[in-house]
Amino acid sequence: MTENKELICINCPMGCRLNVTIEDGRVTEVTGNTCPRGREYALKEAVDPMRILTSTVRIEGAVHRVLPVISDGEIPLRQMFEAMAEIKKIDVRAPIKEGDIVLHDILGSGVNIIASRTMDRVD
Ligand code: SF4
Repeated sequence: MTENKELICINCPMGCRLNVTIEDGRVTEVTGNTCPRGREYALKEAVDPMRILTSTVRIEGAVHRVLPVISDGEIPLRQMFEAMAEIKKIDVRAPIKEGDIVLHDILGSGVNIIASRTMDRVD
């Protein structure tokens, strides 16, 4: 089965419009890219897009009730809902420092979920 997709390359401000041909789940042709980075982007984005995940988790003992978190790498977009469900199960306690890992190796991806800000303990 042959499928065509249009993508916008997000690797630089030129925003080249890419045309991608996919045959049996494999990219067979990329056109519209001005440089090789566009082709690399299309190869990944067209068949298994990856994203940085941002969310919040509950925190106890801090001035705020939720702590913003971010993944320290990209995870497959297809696993995003499952990853969000895992993050919803987390409770952390202040103090937390920016960069502290709040969840190791989410869904066996090798990617950690880390605090994206510091929150001190308040009594
Ligand atoms: S294909 Fe190259 S020039 Fe075009 S947007 Fe992507 S990185 Fe920029």
